[in-house]
Amino acid sequence: MDILDVIKARDPAQREFHQAVEEVVGSVQPVLDRYPEFRKAAILERITEPERVIIFRVPWMDDQGQIHVNRGFRIEMNSAIGPYKGGLRFHPSVTLSILKFLAFEQVFKNALTTLAMGGGKGGSDFDPKGKSDNEVMRFCQAFMSELYRHIGPDTDVPAGDIGVGAREIGFLFGMYKKLRNEFTGVLTGKSLGWGGSLIRPEATGYGAVYFAAEMLSTRNDTLEGKKCLVSGAGNVAQFAVEKIIELGGKVLTMSDSSGYIFDEEGIDAKKIAFIRRLKNVRRGRIKEYLEKYPQAEYAGIDQALDYNPLWDHPADCAFPCATENEINQKDAQNLMNNGVMLTCEGANMPCTPEAIDIFLDKKIFYAPGKAANAGGVAVSGLEMAQNSMRLAWTREEVDNRLKTIMRSIHSTCLEASEDFGESGNYMIGANIAGFVKVVNAMLDQGLV
Ligand code: NDP
Repeated sequence: MDILDVIKARDPAQREFHQAVEEVVGSVQPVLDRYPEFRKAAILERITEPERVIIFRVPWMDDQGQIHVNRGFRIEMNSAIGPYKGGLRFHPSVTLSILKFLAFEQVFKNALTTLAMGGGKGGSDFDPKGKSDNEVMRFCQAFMSELYRHIGPDTDVPAGDIGVGAREIGFLFGMYKKLRNEFTGVLTGKSLGWGGSLIRPEATGYGAVYFAAEMLSTRNDTLEGKKCLVSGAGNVAQFAVEKIIELGGKVLTMSDSSGYIFDEEGIDAKKIAFIRRLKNVRRGRIKEYLEKYPQAEYAGIDQALDYNPLWDHPADCAFPCATENEINQKDAQNLMNNGVMLTCEGANMPCTPEAIDIFLDKKIFYAPGKAANAGGVAVSGLEMAQNSMRLAWTREEVDNRLKTIMRSIHSTCLEASEDFGESGNYMIGANIAGFVKVVNAMLDQGLV
């Protein structure tokens, strides 16, 4: 039986996980043909099954004294090349399927960074939006009162993701420290004053833009003067926008889960600083941008549409930085009709398989998330290194290391695509390069 049929029969409802596995399995067939020992070792069967899945109850009390129960998860997917590493997501849409897809992607992404990190992911269906700081703290403490048994600086090192930023990492770390009575680098994304790394908040967004610049440089092109469509207004989007502006690009759009803004004059450095305060301090909605910059336009999400109008503007580049499957076939077609020549995934799996087919068919630059957004976990790896040494590197040092890592991921993907006769197909290149590294480590370590 085909591995995909096995997975679908075993967990029929896990659509996002099937989607992620299907992409990787489709890409690595030539590898399996070249190295028959991989098939003999049942490597696909092993690599698609998490080493461990932890699911737990998270009871917490709101400010009115009412008790709520959420579900907590940690997927420890693969530890062949290092301790499990991957973010925690707090969002009502969180399911086992979504976290398994994210953990699976994380395994290959982490391998591409060249750092010693295995893959994991976790989170909860808890929604921090609209909750007070005290409610978020009580939830984080309840979540960590179970998770602490399963993680540790040499075992599993979680980080942030959607809904988990500096505030949540602080509360989670505080509880871990209390329960374990130890101050170790068990979480990354910590604040600077107590073990965080400079450039960690910026790393995913900056890294994605460095990757896009690397792709353009293969055709002696740059981001200078390029019109860019960006989705999201969270951590990844904010710093992707900042770096695009710094490299001379013009950003026209940003969004949140309620709608998007279109600013024809471009979102400049001053405007992105406003958005950062709006989102991170006031915890407001992107719509409020118009109160300060009334020349911009805002459109709310229209559930009746089968496409996202954010992607339907004349532009050169698209940076989806919000969530999975946010560019569908019709959006991809709209991007093509509007002249887009580069799509770079800041988010995880933001393009559907049908959308990716269109990009590959039209031979535009397409950077898959597991390569393009690896800068975040790479700097998390650097945070772990600094914590182990009890040292803090300068901003320039971490940024230079990030640039070097993104350049190396780009060339690794390109070389793997050429080696397997798919020159310039970064999706196949990323899947193959990450896969081969992890599989070789698994084979070295025997049947465990
Ligand atoms: P944040 O929570 O900081 O921001 C997420 C943004 O996307 C918000 O603007 C949010 O809007 C929007 N969003 C979330 N869900 C949806 C949805 N279903 N529909 C429309 N908009 C949505 O998360 P991050 O910026 O950290 O993460 C964004 C993406 O990048 C995710 O795919 C994540 O997995 C990926 N990623 C993040 C890394 C990191 O270092 N943070 C590393 C690598 C990948 P609202 O505020 O209304 O919810």
